[in-house]
Amino acid sequence: MDDEQGRPNQSTTTKTRSGTPKGLIDTFAVQCGKCFKWRKIHTREAFEEIRMRVKEEEFVCQTIEDVSCLDDAELEYDSTRIWVGDKPGVAKTPTGFERKIVLRKDNSRVDVYYVTPAGKRMRTLNELAVFIDANPDFKDTRLEDFTFTAPKIMEETISGGKRKRISRPSKEHE
Ligand SMILES: [Zn+2]
Repeated sequence: MDDEQGRPNQSTTTKTRSGTPKGLIDTFAVQCGKCFKWRKIHTREAFEEIRMRVKEEEFVCQTIEDVSCLDDAELEYDSTRIWVGDKPGVAKTPTGFERKIVLRKDNSRVDVYYVTPAGKRMRTLNELAVFIDANPDFKDTRLEDFTFTAPKIMEETISGGKRKRISRPSKEHE
């Protein structure tokens, strides 16, 4: 497999348009392992399925109904949006919960939290453990299915960002 340095992992990339209110990641995309085009995944649930399986099963365009490698890419990996690469293999969010990914205003980092069916935000495994203990309806929910590991910010897609880590010879003559 071609693993280009600095590019998002083959599949599993979530992203946001810059300027999305509150920085919530609102678009999900995966890259085809054959033609390398990016495909939009329209629901969080479908995206999470792919992300969970992608380590064993390479994602290809044909996975999506009525799509093939011959179709044009729906989006490009560039700085018209900020991309964050979610870790492949992250478990699907347990039923009833929602996993939210939020990019901080200054693009410095990404926060992950879960929302309970009642709309409460859970920011740590401890909080979730307490919640599950207190709610018998969720006694079968497994704590190991929650992952707070933050997706990686693809810095080269941040245009005009404050962070500069691209090692390029300096143009300035001092
Ligand atoms: Zn393809």
